[in-house]
Amino acid sequence: MSAPMTRGRVAIIGGGIIGLAIGWRLAQAGVAVEIFERGEAGRGASFAAAGMLAAGVESEPGEAALCALTRHGQALWPAFAAALEAASGIAVGLREEGTIEIALTRDDAARLRHSFDFQRRQGVALEWLNAAEARAREPQLGPQLAGAVFSPHDHQVDNRRVVIALRAAFLAAGGRLHERDEVALAVENDRAIGVRRGDGTLHEADRVVLAAGAWSAAVAGLPACARPAVRPIKGQMLALTMNPAAPLLRHVLWTPRVYLVPRGDGRLIIGATTEERGFDASLTAGGILSLLEGAWRAMPAIEELPIAETWVGFRPGSRDDAPLLGPSAVAGLVLATGHHRNGILLAPITAELITRHLIEGVIDPAMAPFLPDRFAAQPAAPAA
Ligand SMILES: Cc1cc2nc3c(=O)[nH]c(=O)nc-3n(C[C@H](O)[C@H](O)[C@H](O)COP(=O)(O)OP(=O)(O)OC[C@H]3O[C@@H](n4cnc5c(N)ncnc54)[C@H](O)[C@@H]3O)c2cc1C
Repeated sequence: MSAPMTRGRVAIIGGGIIGLAIGWRLAQAGVAVEIFERGEAGRGASFAAAGMLAAGVESEPGEAALCALTRHGQALWPAFAAALEAASGIAVGLREEGTIEIALTRDDAARLRHSFDFQRRQGVALEWLNAAEARAREPQLGPQLAGAVFSPHDHQVDNRRVVIALRAAFLAAGGRLHERDEVALAVENDRAIGVRRGDGTLHEADRVVLAAGAWSAAVAGLPACARPAVRPIKGQMLALTMNPAAPLLRHVLWTPRVYLVPRGDGRLIIGATTEERGFDASLTAGGILSLLEGAWRAMPAIEELPIAETWVGFRPGSRDDAPLLGPSAVAGLVLATGHHRNGILLAPITAELITRHLIEGVIDPAMAPFLPDRFAAQPAAPAA
């Protein structure tokens, strides 16, 4: 366990939802904290995401520790959103209709029943719906429907608004943000001493937090022993435009192939592909086709909707799909990365655990399964 730090300066590499949330909490606690972001804060994966807070329907066998963290994180969201809105004056679009997961065929229904039984055994509150009950909640569901699950606690938030609000709250709490400043880690005598800025100057800090998302392994200056096993997992997405006064859909909807997320402003987000293609940012015909086809099979009425936007994002994937949280092999360097498909959901709990670790030197039991040294015996991932 590293020594407690009561006064000290913290430098954060990366101004996505993770870096901003940690920075905001540290600044609120009176710590001198500066965030270095090579582009515009909040424009990485945190901008690309769908904003689902899906701890329940995302629970999978073999991920018990991660499920505990995601459910803990989910429980923090309502208070986090309220505090963020109060601090920033910006509404973050937390919607609490819950999620419906549908089966289109009998095979889908058998698979859905299997995960329903598993998730219920984990204590997730879920309700099985027959086709008529599902259609009563979402009348635009198509004719092909073999069953559904309602998950009342799997909500959504407007992740783009969240990062804008976090940026404002961080600055209002006294944090300093340096945008368009790509930094390298500065290490001396095996200890992180700060960050080397784009202009070559050294910004000294007592602790450095690495929160560079999918780019975390590629940050210059990282010794091999501390380079996180994090790689980009490409996701293509698109948004359609619904009439906000008469939206086609109100719940978050999971289908066997895609998910659909209706925003309050009428945008209907459809996502997402999962591709191992490094940082290839191209949108492909096959990717967009599979999203539209998957959504259309569930809700044929989408075919009338205009396309508003298409985009690509890079999830920070780790070897076990769980985040890397806590001290690294380099003294003074703390990792907060590898959140993969759950970084929006896990932002409040990550900020709480990392802030506590930095201020009190505590490794909370909730953080212990996610310490970066769990991969120490394995060779580091190549920097992408
Ligand atoms: C298509 C898609 C859909 C998703 N949907 C969901 C969802 O519904 N729910 C959910 O919980 N999660 C979702 N996610 C995952 C979530 O978006 C990520 O886990 C989360 O945004 C990671 O946040 P981050 O701050 O670590 O990374 P990012 O937001 O990518 O931020 C990292 C930042 O670090 C900066 N940076 C990198 N290198 C340097 C450097 N050397 N110096 C300075 N700055 C640097 C980058 O410019 C970037 O801004 C989705 C992701 C994708 C791609």
